[in-house]
Amino acid sequence: MTLDPATIKILYIEDDPNSRRLVQRVLESEGYQVSLAEDGMSGLEMARRLHPDLILTDINIGGMTGNEVATRLKEQKETRGTPIIALTAATLATDRERALVAGCDGYITKPIDVDALPTLIAKFLSGKREKVDDTIKMQRLEEYSQALVTRLETTVAQLEKANADLRRMDKMKKDFVVLAGHELRTPTTLIYGYTNLLRMEMQQLQLGEHVDDVINRISTATQRLNEVVDAIINVSLIDSAQLDLTLVPVDLHSIVQAVMQEQQSSARQRDLKLETRDLSYLPPIKADANYLRRALSNLVSNSIKYTPDGGRISLDAEQEHGAIHIIISDTGIGIDRAEQEHIFDKFYVLEDTATHSTSHNAFMGGGLGLGLTVVYGIIQAHGGRIWVESEGQDMNRLPGSRFHLLLPIDPGPAHTPTNT
Ligand code: ADP
Repeated sequence: MTLDPATIKILYIEDDPNSRRLVQRVLESEGYQVSLAEDGMSGLEMARRLHPDLILTDINIGGMTGNEVATRLKEQKETRGTPIIALTAATLATDRERALVAGCDGYITKPIDVDALPTLIAKFLSGKREKVDDTIKMQRLEEYSQALVTRLETTVAQLEKANADLRRMDKMKKDFVVLAGHELRTPTTLIYGYTNLLRMEMQQLQLGEHVDDVINRISTATQRLNEVVDAIINVSLIDSAQLDLTLVPVDLHSIVQAVMQEQQSSARQRDLKLETRDLSYLPPIKADANYLRRALSNLVSNSIKYTPDGGRISLDAEQEHGAIHIIISDTGIGIDRAEQEHIFDKFYVLEDTATHSTSHNAFMGGGLGLGLTVVYGIIQAHGGRIWVESEGQDMNRLPGSRFHLLLPIDPGPAHTPTNT
């Protein structure tokens, strides 16, 4: 039977670019369709996808060897019947036998004989298959399985070492961020304190509105810097499971009141209504008051950021069995469903960073993308859950977002966050 080469697909797996080019040129000049893979893993993937009529493979390639690729290809039903031909510089009889027991159907040695190669390929395409004598087959199979176990052992050892290296480097990075954060916090706190002192002194000197305005701006900017440094420190602490919670019975009502008061001036500047109701009837919950306040504050401040002027933000809570369910809703732009599971990830911001503007409360004023990560870590450390509900993002229709927190009234010992 003569085959039309133009309908025949050959996959060649080879890490040496010169061999790839040469074989491709020879086979394409015969009219075959040739695809190339540079290593075993991508060769396997291409074989599954392209369903070639014949696979040529080098044996000594990086990652999976040609023999291992052949074994794998013979195991899966899409490629079980495809002839696999080794094309290799290894010329010993034992190398050939090992390739054949591993799953190869033929063995061609390098250097490549460009005149003979097309005839050999045509023969394999027409059904030629090489075989190993049964007498030595068992011996080679045994050697092959031993070689596989040795390789597995070496690979596991290499992976374990690489993992240990990565863990060490990750710890160094986390320690560095915590240290750098602490180092930055001291001077920024001092600057903030001195600026306020200066403001008081200057007010007495009555140097005029302009000077007051400059000092106010320095003070606001420093406060913002403090908040950013705090967020970085908190994320690093959460990341390395070092968030140290002091769990005592706290009154949610007073924490909510403090948060609403703290956010009131930002809301007023943007003509936003902040609503809550009397929550003093709720039982005290065992929590870290500072961290809980920070979490609620971040959520309300996000609602302020992502709700256009004139909107409404409300915080409600109720008891549900052994937990308190807190809901923070806004009449803002909402969050796309596809984004909802990612917004708690570190550094996740939905806006384009090229147009990023940073502001504490301006509409859509971006941040570092750490706010929700901190909230998530804090809630997890309290043994609670956080999730968001929104119909999607729409700047005109303003579907709003609802952030839900479920906090156990008594969480037991502090939990280790398992954040991203
Ligand atoms: P950022 O510092 O950018 O505000 P966050 O971690 O607090 O980072 O929030 C991550 C992203 O989630 C934000 O960039 C924003 O796109 C989205 N997001 C958070 N809260 C809201 C909300 N109330 N309404 C709409 N989008 C929100």
